[in-house]
Amino acid sequence: MAARTCPHCNTELGAAKVVAFTNGVDCPKCGMRLEVASGGRTISTITGLAVAAIVWRAASGATGDLGGVLPTLYAFLSFGIISSAVLMLTATLRNAPAEPVLEPAHASGGHGGSSHDSGSGGHGGHH
Ligand SMILES: [Zn+2]
Repeated sequence: MAARTCPHCNTELGAAKVVAFTNGVDCPKCGMRLEVASGGRTISTITGLAVAAIVWRAASGATGDLGGVLPTLYAFLSFGIISSAVLMLTATLRNAPAEPVLEPAHASGGHGGSSHDSGSGGHGGHH
């Protein structure tokens, strides 16, 4: 089981704690601001939706009289439970961006560098 660790100091963080602070958590050791990587949340959301859809279909078939109330409720609960569970299993942490730094376009002087003298040698490869 891969624990959620701080990418800065490798301190383990509880999965439940990370999920509780879904948008971010401070590392208790180094104080680094962390956030759940977006990939894990996307996967958990998709999985939750998929399970919710399955539950909704199953519940719709099972309780024909009750219309759409209970299936929707079940699907809603399933989505919340499953997405949280998947997030606990898949979430990884990354350093949260402190502030958006707009670095200027640094594309000056591209060509004409060091990769021009590799023609006449013919060496197979360095050992
Ligand atoms: Zn840390």
